[in-house]
Amino acid sequence: MNWHQQPKEKLEDLLQVSTTAGLENGQAKARLRQVGPNTLEQKKKVPGWLLFLRQFQDTMILILIAATVISAALGEYIDAITIVFIVIMNGILGFIQENKAEKSLDALKELASPTMTVRRSGQWMTIPSAEAVPGDIVKLTGGDKISADIRLLEASNVMAEESALTGESFPVQKHADVLTSSDVSIGEKENMAFAGTLVTKGHGIGVIVATGMQTEMGKIAHMLSDSENSETPLQRRLSHLGKMLITGALILTALVVILGIMQGQPVYKMLLSGVSLAVAAIPEGLPAIVTVVLALGVQRMIKRNAIVRQLPAVETLGCASVICSDKTGTLTQNKMKVTALAGGNGLTFRKSKKPFERAKHEKLLTYGALCTQIAVEKQENPGMKEELRRDPTENALLEAAEASDISLPSILAAHTIKKDFPFDSDRKRMSVVVTNKKGQSFVITKGAPDLLLERTTQIEANGRVERFTPMKKQEVRQTITLMANKALRTIAVAYRPLKAGETISSAETAERNLIYLGVEGMIDPPRQEAKDAIKECRQAGIKTIMITGDHKDTAAAIAKEIGLLPEYGLVVTGKEWNQASDREKARMIQKTYVFARVSPEDKLNIVKVLKSQGHVVAMTGDGVNDAPALKASDIGIAMGKTGTDVAKEASALILRDDNFSTIRSAIKEGRNIYENIRKFIRYMLASNVGEILVMLFAVMLGMPLPLVAIQILWINLITDGLPAMALGLDQPERNVMKRPPRSSTESIFARGMGWKIISRGFLIGVVTLIGFMTALYEQPDHLVRAQTIAFATLVMAQLIHVFDCRTNGTIFDRNPLENKYLTLAVLSSVVLLVLVIYTPMLQPIFHTTALTVVEWMLVLALASIPTFALAGRTLFRPASRKPAKA
Ligand code: ATP
Repeated sequence: MNWHQQPKEKLEDLLQVSTTAGLENGQAKARLRQVGPNTLEQKKKVPGWLLFLRQFQDTMILILIAATVISAALGEYIDAITIVFIVIMNGILGFIQENKAEKSLDALKELASPTMTVRRSGQWMTIPSAEAVPGDIVKLTGGDKISADIRLLEASNVMAEESALTGESFPVQKHADVLTSSDVSIGEKENMAFAGTLVTKGHGIGVIVATGMQTEMGKIAHMLSDSENSETPLQRRLSHLGKMLITGALILTALVVILGIMQGQPVYKMLLSGVSLAVAAIPEGLPAIVTVVLALGVQRMIKRNAIVRQLPAVETLGCASVICSDKTGTLTQNKMKVTALAGGNGLTFRKSKKPFERAKHEKLLTYGALCTQIAVEKQENPGMKEELRRDPTENALLEAAEASDISLPSILAAHTIKKDFPFDSDRKRMSVVVTNKKGQSFVITKGAPDLLLERTTQIEANGRVERFTPMKKQEVRQTITLMANKALRTIAVAYRPLKAGETISSAETAERNLIYLGVEGMIDPPRQEAKDAIKECRQAGIKTIMITGDHKDTAAAIAKEIGLLPEYGLVVTGKEWNQASDREKARMIQKTYVFARVSPEDKLNIVKVLKSQGHVVAMTGDGVNDAPALKASDIGIAMGKTGTDVAKEASALILRDDNFSTIRSAIKEGRNIYENIRKFIRYMLASNVGEILVMLFAVMLGMPLPLVAIQILWINLITDGLPAMALGLDQPERNVMKRPPRSSTESIFARGMGWKIISRGFLIGVVTLIGFMTALYEQPDHLVRAQTIAFATLVMAQLIHVFDCRTNGTIFDRNPLENKYLTLAVLSSVVLLVLVIYTPMLQPIFHTTALTVVEWMLVLALASIPTFALAGRTLFRPASRKPAKA
């Protein structure tokens, strides 16, 4: 269908909708049933049974199954059946882990689902984009991400960035006129906006012509790669590590098998043990557990209002060394209230609940309220609901006027807004052209006082307009500084009557030779929780920098109040920053804690300088113009409430509550997730080292095998499964936020972990062997007893060692019962061990025999050694060499 060629009436006809009232609610529901949800079809899901079967795809598992078949052929039915059972259990465990990982990732995707403003049954309302249908009348505003194909009906200055569809990264101008040519490419359809593209500027209204897979984006959807599912750098590094471990495990296992055969052990038994050992030693569960830990961590972050859009951000968060944060709404509450007015009549503060005196401030309050986006919208749509008032700064201006009995409807009854030049954070001001009842036209401008003053030539005081002498200007500047030092956000208001016949074509022509009217000063109380969060970040070696468009003194006052600006800290303005050379910038940034009056381009430059100094930078933003800086930072953070879709699209993390302290929580969670991954890798690998070494040492010493194949497989199933998972859910150590950030290039084995794995693994192997040898020495003919003791020692040593893995310090540093999942996992493993040893029916299967109390004492004493011997060693270390206590 050539939607771009249809006139409005034809569109109404074709899509069966009235553009003024929109679809009826019922009609929209019926269409939704008919055409389906407005979403792109996901990649085909792997069905459950296939996911389950995939668990057995692993080469080693296949070899194990082959070995089992051989042992069955040799008449070892019980062994064969048990191995099959264990392999299936292993598969189920792997399946549960992977399934859980996939489910949690799906849940995350849903959370980030976008919304749309549509007109239904005559009312504007916000709906999930998935519920939009062809025929819906939608509103587009700068910053929106478009999620359906739309034919524009009205467009004021609309620019769209369509690189996702056309590859063209420069925004293109849109209009609502009919196009005549039928043969036009997507990029040339200037009266249409497409799903997957972004509105960077302006506002407009359009009608949806296609949704879901029918959109242009839908048509190429199968070509898009699903980037959110990509592996994180850590996952990539781990799969590399996995390959190395497999090689290592195979070499060692082969050695065990060859040595065993050379010593005269039966070949088939050695092969079975060898394959079992290889299965046990290869950490096949690693990738799934990492995904589960990442996904569960991400869910915990959501509970704390941080939505992760890109999984790798979870890791990067743990490395963040600088947070560049907006001020308004993030470090402050964004609950603005005008508390001071300064004009030609001097400075007036508002007494707690009392309004300003109307007679004295009428013009400043009226013009301040008239020159707002809310006034512009209210004029277009008088029935507009109050909650649509979005910008707190403008709300404050209106509230101050209303409190003094100057209501917006009464202002709009007396004035008509003819034109508006909206606020943006580059210009830091906004203007309207209005006509009053007497037919006089004038420009009203409001904005950042320092910039506005440059455009004023006259001042109005006590109803008289005078020349704005340099001295007078100086006085006004002093008053503004006084207000800013009290942490007030200041907005100046100025105006200019238009000469007869004068037309205004651009903001530039409007905003000059203005008459200064006054300044409104508003408080925006700091968020109390920000103070603690900044302190905690500082202890964690993370510097917080405030980056704001606000006045230098206002920013500094708030920064001091929340403990962000130390005595020696610098406050730098965008202008000062731009005047500095690259070398000066590099030096300056080390001491700078507040950047004031910056533009979004400055933000980008600040990120670049910080990154060039080796920092890992987290940067917040909300506007369209913030997107480049958000993308350039290591962790772009968008505001969930006030942020535009464009900013959200460009970021890795979204703060649902716009709150600074949420960033702190996310960083803490990020650090913890990484530590937890390290914890279970440490546990799994040390256990595997122990298992391989005990077998290797035994064959090297010419002894019988300390463990039979089934025991090895059982250990792999029980100890590698639940306790490892539980470690992944461990609580953070108390000192996670007292350490400097980890380097992003740090090896997973850094900070002594490699040594810990080898030393503990070695000891686990040695004590198991000692248990085995002691038992054989006492009763040389009772191999099953010796094997049971070795089996119990190995399992118990691992189950004690798991608590040691919870901390970078020693086992004494943490309450062992704190992690209830771990306690449960360990307890159930112990119960299973006891069952396998004492149940008469299971004894022949697992080659075990009941142990006496004395034997258990030996087992427990030996099993404690790997963990406690080395922990004890640290206890006696000189204090200076002790690692920081957890
Ligand atoms: P942050 O970047 O921390 O959110 P901010 O919200 O103060 O800071 P901007 O919104 O870019 O930054 O505002 C910069 C300046 O522009 C403000 O100090 C104020 O003087 C002026 N200003 C803010 N909002 C408006 C508005 N709606 N109309 C006119 N001027 C405004």
